Amino acid sequence: MPEHSLLDEALVRLDEAAAHLNIDPDVIEKLKYARETTKVRLMIRMDDGSRKSFLAWRCRYDDTRGPTKGGIRFHPESTADEVETLAFWMTFKCAVMNLPYGGGKGAVQVDPRTLSKAELERLSRAYIQAFARIIGPDRDIPAPDVYTNSMIMGWMADEYAQIVGQHEPAMITGKPIALGGSLGRGDATARGGYYLVKHLAGDLKLGETMRVAIQGFGNAGQHIARLLAADGHKIVAVSDSQGAVFSAAGLHIDLLTHAKSIGMPVASTAGNGGHERLEADELVGIECDLLVPAALENMIHENNAAMVKASLVLELANGPITPPADEILEANGTVVLPDILANAGGVTVSYLEWVQNRQGFYWPVEDIHQRLQTMMESEGRAVWEVGREKGVTLRTAAYVHALGRLAEAIEAHGTQSFFTS
Ligand code: GLU
Repeated sequence: MPEHSLLDEALVRLDEAAAHLNIDPDVIEKLKYARETTKVRLMIRMDDGSRKSFLAWRCRYDDTRGPTKGGIRFHPESTADEVETLAFWMTFKCAVMNLPYGGGKGAVQVDPRTLSKAELERLSRAYIQAFARIIGPDRDIPAPDVYTNSMIMGWMADEYAQIVGQHEPAMITGKPIALGGSLGRGDATARGGYYLVKHLAGDLKLGETMRVAIQGFGNAGQHIARLLAADGHKIVAVSDSQGAVFSAAGLHIDLLTHAKSIGMPVASTAGNGGHERLEADELVGIECDLLVPAALENMIHENNAAMVKASLVLELANGPITPPADEILEANGTVVLPDILANAGGVTVSYLEWVQNRQGFYWPVEDIHQRLQTMMESEGRAVWEVGREKGVTLRTAAYVHALGRLAEAIEAHGTQSFFTS
């Protein structure tokens, strides 16, 4: 057991934000603990006829502002602590964006790459069989996360429909378009971050042509590479869990996405198009203007934070920077666009998907992009202003902005002073 759990570390942000607001102590008491975390063992039949079990969780952290919302990840190192922390972050992410949701998260402790496609389908359906009673369009709404995708969401929606005996597309988001998914959900996490960077470019005095390094080349990493390269920025380095590649002249995004589409690591492109091979952990220290962590938690920590050369970090992953690393970056003048704002594009378009499912009327992709851009810009601007007014980092500002909304909702049920005066 680590000395401090991931959740303990995350809760430090809550205290930091509370110090800037005049909120009732009830609010902190409510937000300090996950409301409900359910743990199950999923049993599935493997292709060889054997049965195998996998640990799985669903956490509903806080639902004051609406049904809980958050993805399901399939990862061999997932734990209950990680799921609760991710659900805590979702609570704040939805509040930053003013979405009518609380925060939730789920996980299965599995390496999906070791499963056949049929086993993956059985596991996805087993997850819904186990949790059907606690999820639902007005209760808790899952979505994709690390190593889960739209096909998995489609299986899950179908399983839920079979259990409840009717179509209920709004019970999960990130579905295939043909099954009620939203246009624009696929690249929404990256696109939200991209709109944020563009909107704050003047305030942050960003150059016309930035050198960009991207850690992690899954959904978020691939889409941000494409979006930034199309604007003339140079993607100089990209990593995944198995290695990294570098090119001072700019990497060829097509080569990289092709490699990933056939299950090869990014380093397999080394030697082509001027791509040079690097170790995965060299990426953080690459000479660049913008660093985009788009992998997992705790990737930038106290032992490598001082190596960061970028003046701006866009956190597309959840929790990629540890609190001590944050302090090092701040002392070195690196600005961090924090995860609960920077990667909120995903859940924002999930919200738009849920709205479309409920109204039964679907918008063209231009409308989705426009709505996402407007929301990223207005909440991004609000966070920027809090940061300036209070003289705090954008992370603290984002927590203050979110906590203000959470506090208002929690206090609306009555505070101690109401009941005792
Ligand atoms: N898993 C994504 C996140 O961490 C998306 C969640 C959602 O769309 O509900 O924000």
